[in-house]
Amino acid sequence: MHQQQLSTPAARTTPLAFHSKVEFDAEVIQRLSKNGPRYTSYPTADRFDDSFTYRDYLHAVASVRTRGARPLSLYLHIPFCDTVCYYCACNKIVTKNREKAATYLGYLNREITMQAGLFAGMNEVEQLHFGGGTPTYLSDEQMGELMAHLRRNFKFAPDEVGEYSIEVDPRTVSTERVHSLRRQGFNRISLGVQDFDLDVQKAVNRVQPEAETRAIIEAARDAGFRSVSVDLIYGLPKQSLESMAVTIEKVIDASPDRISIYHYAHLPHVFKPQRRIPEADMPSSNEKLAMLALCIERLTDAGYVYIGMDHFAKPDDDLAVAQRQGRLHRNFQGYSTHADTDLISCGVSAIGAVGATYSQNAKTLEAYYEALDNNELPVVRGIALGMDDLLRRTVIQKLMCQFELSVSAIELAFPIAFGQYFAAELAVLRHLERDGLVSIEGDWISVTMRGRLLIRNVCMVFDRYLAAPTAMPRYSRTV
Ligand code: SF4
Repeated sequence: MHQQQLSTPAARTTPLAFHSKVEFDAEVIQRLSKNGPRYTSYPTADRFDDSFTYRDYLHAVASVRTRGARPLSLYLHIPFCDTVCYYCACNKIVTKNREKAATYLGYLNREITMQAGLFAGMNEVEQLHFGGGTPTYLSDEQMGELMAHLRRNFKFAPDEVGEYSIEVDPRTVSTERVHSLRRQGFNRISLGVQDFDLDVQKAVNRVQPEAETRAIIEAARDAGFRSVSVDLIYGLPKQSLESMAVTIEKVIDASPDRISIYHYAHLPHVFKPQRRIPEADMPSSNEKLAMLALCIERLTDAGYVYIGMDHFAKPDDDLAVAQRQGRLHRNFQGYSTHADTDLISCGVSAIGAVGATYSQNAKTLEAYYEALDNNELPVVRGIALGMDDLLRRTVIQKLMCQFELSVSAIELAFPIAFGQYFAAELAVLRHLERDGLVSIEGDWISVTMRGRLLIRNVCMVFDRYLAAPTAMPRYSRTV
């Protein structure tokens, strides 16, 4: 069983006003913001468990084969970093010992070969993403060999069709390396910037001179990358409204195609590196909200479209176009323009989505290597989705990506009467409607301009697992 595509029988002739400004209402945000998932998947990864094994993954691939092939997405996880950024909450390995990467690549190649064997005959790739860690921890030569291995094992769509992206730490690459990445087949690049302010950079142990970052952005344009993306974080130590104003102006001046602005969740009891950040250096929640308001105002004034969940894009960027055309999708790498794919993920802790399943690899190098030494894929946990999961996933995807959903389209795709099935959820939505976050009108449930910053709150209404009386897992705040 796989996720069904929604038809849009009652589709609007004009999309919602995507060029209108997202509305920042400090009072509503302060009152309603709470901890919640980011919905890069539904059910969220904390619902996976180890009753799902490597053999379930094999069954999922077999069911894909029965159903008929669709294009693939590949995710490659490179976990290594040279130094630690104090705000980091990622699954990474900080080491200067490059031998470790060489060993890792040997195992990664084995995993790629095994996955390619499983998908033989249905191995057309339309999307590739390298994440980490720091993918550019690998040398130019190592990356070239890895890409060649992938090309030997999978059939990649031509450059103008495929979306091939890599996360780059500007501190680890030269302008020549950026050109090399383009030649190796990447056509989208995402740069971790976080903040241009030197005091903030020092406070998080990530000093990267502005001129160098600007040079990398320029090199990416010269090299012909189709989309250049910049990641920022608000709420970091030593950040202030003034410093953020300077940073955001510099980013706008650099004119990337996409900008992501993530909220820093300070959880030192959970993430060890964060213990090196003195509490006294942290901005207050009011200051953080003011920073967010400022970023939204400046970016929308500069012509960027709010895509949703921290992401902004120029109106002619593929993400904004896909959203206008109702093709936007959300997966573990955030928003994507290729919806109808199975996701094969390789590398330690990587999460895949094949057929109606999610699966995750072992989180430690030892366990990852051991499984591959036993000629088994290193899948250690996951979940097989039932009809209710698939239905709710579709609803949440529509809300996250399009900010609206057609009730009749859902009823066409799933055997339910929406009003009955979601009676309790609709009652909660009515409360959000009174706060001006959503509108429920005729066939449509729409998230208003005021509700868009709180989109996670709206999606949480449809999350069946949150209703279970277990402790709230470690989610970040919705705004
Ligand atoms: S933030 Fe990125 S570069 Fe920094 S330690 Fe974490 S994974 Fe590595």
